[in-house]
Amino acid sequence: MNIHTPASKLAKSADGAKKPSRAEAEAAIRTMLRWAGEDPDREGLQDTPARVVRSYEEFFKGYAEDPVALLARTFEEIEGYDEMVVLRDIRIESHCEHHMVPIIGRAHVAYLPNTRVVGISKLARVVDAYAHRFQIQEKLTAQIANTIADVLQPRGVAVVIEANHQCMSTRGVHKPGASMITSRMLGAFRDDPSTRREFLAMIAQRSCTGVEG
Ligand SMILES: [Zn+2]
Repeated sequence: MNIHTPASKLAKSADGAKKPSRAEAEAAIRTMLRWAGEDPDREGLQDTPARVVRSYEEFFKGYAEDPVALLARTFEEIEGYDEMVVLRDIRIESHCEHHMVPIIGRAHVAYLPNTRVVGISKLARVVDAYAHRFQIQEKLTAQIANTIADVLQPRGVAVVIEANHQCMSTRGVHKPGASMITSRMLGAFRDDPSTRREFLAMIAQRSCTGVEG
């Protein structure tokens, strides 16, 4: 699958099937409540299926976003600026595709411009567009880096993500302190050790004190 495909355009799910209705989604939540041992009709739970479905719209809004389009507008009047652009400590709120529980952490994104730059908030929005989907951290890291590389055609891209996985902290092996670190280095960040070192030093200055959340 093309990494740029917004996985669904609202009317359809990624598998090509018709997207379930809101009522069908709410019925599925009622089933899960009953599976857990609850009575979905008791007062405190009556509005829960609707709330959960609305939460899902927020958690997974990335399927309706096109990360390539987010990077379409670039600026070329940069006075020959050709040093690294780094955005660090971008909050990550994602969901593990294996357990459907949160992945909370932060991303650091850098690129070496090649005649044009992008609005800095757009880098954060690309991170969000991929994070607000069902993910594994490795794929999330690669998707962000590959998209910036493909669209901006810079001399290099680096993405580092540090995150806590609730599927490891609140269930399974129950290791709440463990954070996972992934990185993808492209172009000069991959080929030139001094460029990579400069980037890693920049993100180490204040961060790496542990992932919040
Ligand atoms: Zn998981």
